[in-house]
Amino acid sequence: MPEPNFREELRIHDQLAADWHGDRVIRCRQCGHAFGSLFQNYKERALLRVRKPWEYLPDRRPGEFVEYWEFYCPGCGVLLAVDPMGPGDRKPTWDIRIASPPEE
Ligand SMILES: [Zn+2]
Repeated sequence: MPEPNFREELRIHDQLAADWHGDRVIRCRQCGHAFGSLFQNYKERALLRVRKPWEYLPDRRPGEFVEYWEFYCPGCGVLLAVDPMGPGDRKPTWDIRIASPPEE
């Protein structure tokens, strides 16, 4: 993986960087895929796989209410995040929220 150019991107996550001076989007650090505006939740443009608890832990039983939402980069398939979700949860949680550009 090439070392990111921090004049053009700022690492904000293990696999994501903020492209401040280009298209002002969040990009995958592995493949450059754009996840939309810097100020949107990148998970809403990621690939989603919903898994049940017993897929992770064999001693869990069907019927438990928690699901695990796995988010992947559509460009390269790298795993970005795993969120435990309750029965009423319909939107992915925010783990990164960018408020304003860094000081120039
Ligand atoms: Zn990618």
